[in-house]
Amino acid sequence: MRIVVDFGSCPPHRMAKVYFYYSAMNAGKSTVLLQSAYNYRERGMVPLLFTPAIDTRGGPGRIASRIGLSAEAIAFNRQDDLQAAIRHHHARQRIACVLVDEAQFLSRDQVQQLTDIADQLDIPVLCYGLRTDFQGNLFEGSASLLAWADDLNEIKTICHCGRKATMVLRTDQHGRALREGAQIEIGGNERYVSVCRRHFKEGASGEATPAPAPL
Ligand SMILES: [Zn+2]
Repeated sequence: MRIVVDFGSCPPHRMAKVYFYYSAMNAGKSTVLLQSAYNYRERGMVPLLFTPAIDTRGGPGRIASRIGLSAEAIAFNRQDDLQAAIRHHHARQRIACVLVDEAQFLSRDQVQQLTDIADQLDIPVLCYGLRTDFQGNLFEGSASLLAWADDLNEIKTICHCGRKATMVLRTDQHGRALREGAQIEIGGNERYVSVCRRHFKEGASGEATPAPAPL
């Protein structure tokens, strides 16, 4: 028996989506972003890249991955109107997609602006960021993206115990968990380690130097 489906009365119309790729630290988010940008460029299309101005690991206005890839990006602050910036570029040269690194630092307003870009300009927006901070709370940008994105994807990484790492521990230079402090620390000595929920609760980074055994 053949089933004939008639789409004639309901033409498929693909709308651009907002995607949120979330993970713990060091899961390779920037690498995936840069690979996507490369794929667009390889097909002769122009991606527009954004990175928070506070993240200067790759230099200001640059996205760098741990495996050595990097690309120029527009540095943004929380107050910036991303919709205006994207429309400005799109008017000069057709933008095929928008890629946002460290998207946890977006404001709620900026996430709304990005959904307008998808809905009104039909440009897909791909956001890459952390889900939660070192205290296990959602970042503002992540909370808004979890609520408003069309498509949620987890980029997986593993804890030192082998389980999936979903949480981020902030540690001092000795690997001891830090539980207090501002959500965003810049230029301190603290480090970040991705761990499973159990080891997050225990504060076990897997990097602590064990105390010398008594003789
Ligand atoms: Zn673990």
